[in-house]
Amino acid sequence: MIRGSTELVAIIGSPIAQVKSPANFNTWFEQNGQELAMVAIDMAESGLAAFIDALRGWRNLRGCVVTVPYKQVLAERLDGLSPRAAALRSVNVIRREADGRLLGDNVDGEGFLKAARAHGFQPAEKRALVVGSGGVGAAIAYALCESGVRQLVIADLDKPRAEALAKLLRAAFPQLNIGNQYANLSVFDLVVNATPVGMGGSGELPLAGQLLETLNPSALVADVVTNPVITPFLEIARELGCRIQTGPEMARAQMGNLGHFMGVMPLDV
Ligand code: NAD
Repeated sequence: MIRGSTELVAIIGSPIAQVKSPANFNTWFEQNGQELAMVAIDMAESGLAAFIDALRGWRNLRGCVVTVPYKQVLAERLDGLSPRAAALRSVNVIRREADGRLLGDNVDGEGFLKAARAHGFQPAEKRALVVGSGGVGAAIAYALCESGVRQLVIADLDKPRAEALAKLLRAAFPQLNIGNQYANLSVFDLVVNATPVGMGGSGELPLAGQLLETLNPSALVADVVTNPVITPFLEIARELGCRIQTGPEMARAQMGNLGHFMGVMPLDV
């Protein structure tokens, strides 16, 4: 029940019907006796400027989760950004301060790492391969660098994009070994699919099947794709004896980070 006294948070994107956050947040609010509710907003790009202006004056709205395709465009329109959101030029959550200022952060990478730690993966001194250097891949790569991986390799079909991310990360973390080259997968402690490949039952793989056979069985293999839960990539990794991490695990792990940034939830829910 949304009452006059209910405080709101939102999630904005387009399309929006597929997102799981409203169900997850509203269930948590209800189970924890919070007078809060999340609403889903399908916004046309032409409405974004007016929406941001409205947020500044919207006193009973605490914050807003940001999803595809607005993570980059909204990062340019806020009043302040966390260092990682500024470096990535991308936000996935906005907090409205009491004075109406809008602050942005990007906790995609932190959520990913929280899920990975729950699988026993400790990033310090590890070797990681991230396939996909778009919004999510960049956030995961940044979080891995912050956590002190020994080596990070970034791969993408769009090679200039992967190289641009490696350059950005080398500037931010000059002590780390960050590159775009690898011969096979056997050296990696973590291999991540951060591309949409495998989504919707396409059956496609982000890396060639032959290459996947070189996965180290002690590696953690993770996918960001949420549907299907077990992608063909994860299926192969599991058959090879690797630990696997699914897209929904990352999304669920991130809920506390999003809620905490908006000031409506503890970090570890
Ligand atoms: P994006 O379009 O910004 O980036 C995708 C990147 O993958 C692009 O750079 C593209 O060139 C690259 N790519 C595509 N196919 C490739 C291939 N075969 N090999 C190498 N690179 C390839 O997309 P994004 O915003 O980063 O989102 C990626 C996926 O992450 C989406 O499927 C999205 O639904 C999912 N996602 C999951 C979570 C979660 O919590 N699990 C959160 C956010 C997004």
